Amino acid sequence: MSNLVFVYDPQFQKHLTPESHPESPNRLAAIESALHRSELIKQVRRAEPRAATGDELAAVHNPAYIEDLERKGNLARDQNARLEVESETFMSSESYDTAKLAAGAGIVAVESVLQARSQSAFVAVRPPGHHALKDKAMGFCLFNNVAIGARYAQKHLGVKKVLIIDWDVHHGNGTQAIFYDDPSVCFVSFHQYPFWPPNVGWYTEDGADEGKGYNINIPLPAGTGDEGYVKAWDAIVTPIILEYNPDLIMLSAGYDAHQFDPLGQQQISTAGYYLLSSRLADVAERTNARLAGFLEGGYNTKTLAESVVATMHVLNAADAQGRKDVKPFGSIYGGEVVEQTMDRNPQLVDERISTIRKHLSKYWKSLRNSSS
Ligand SMILES: [Zn+2]
Repeated sequence: MSNLVFVYDPQFQKHLTPESHPESPNRLAAIESALHRSELIKQVRRAEPRAATGDELAAVHNPAYIEDLERKGNLARDQNARLEVESETFMSSESYDTAKLAAGAGIVAVESVLQARSQSAFVAVRPPGHHALKDKAMGFCLFNNVAIGARYAQKHLGVKKVLIIDWDVHHGNGTQAIFYDDPSVCFVSFHQYPFWPPNVGWYTEDGADEGKGYNINIPLPAGTGDEGYVKAWDAIVTPIILEYNPDLIMLSAGYDAHQFDPLGQQQISTAGYYLLSSRLADVAERTNARLAGFLEGGYNTKTLAESVVATMHVLNAADAQGRKDVKPFGSIYGGEVVEQTMDRNPQLVDERISTIRKHLSKYWKSLRNSSS
């Protein structure tokens, strides 16, 4: 296997939001600069994105919605304005083309990993995607990039089972809605709860019809921190991924659960993201699944960039030499695990994890033992 495939284009910085909006082009500039500082940029294999076609978008989104977005994009261009198409969700003159390129970047990534050019890929794009519904923009998202990539892999690359893991601090409501009744796409979302978006993401939302049991929500209280996330991963996510045995694992990689993020309060450290990334690489290796990570949120540009580099470093090392050769986090970045000071309730986290496990055990044999 060769090194991690990295899909990126400076065009992704041309989707503009108003001044002081958290979802800004600076996010990608910071990631680019951190990649160069880490020298990872010399190791990864860069791939150019292409725009998703109308048919590829329509495998997920309603045609009327796609047309509406194109119309609004043209309007933004004609007026040279940043139009608010939904609450806090904007389009500027190049947003429509950039959103199609972001969706197409995900397609390039799944093609790269499924055509055996690499085990893993990471897609650094804007606008993000996981809140976008079939027929509605939402939460800074226009097209659901990860969903479009998943459908493309199934329709064109022979993939049967996809597992999407979403560790953005916000619930991936768009992705949940798109695949809610579909057992061929298992969706797992870690998120702060209660939080935005409201009234969605509780663990009893576990799928519908044939998809019952394939929608896994892990709603965690504010301040859960690294330890709680890792516990939830080990108790719920690893057994489910091993039992589901997907062909392709897609990561909705949001970094707004970071302790220094201005939007979330989940208190994950950069080292915590490193640990989660290592668990992800491990389970992909154990199931022999290909892996594609898609950037979602993350609004402290410094910790976003460091955390993305941490994930990419783990995936690249997993590809190139085997994970055992990944250096400990601190030696790569000179970083330390920062003491987390926020009030926490580990007992509530433990109770929540065991409640979720119990609830899901009616669908998943691997959750029926007493190991948690
Ligand atoms: Zn988010």
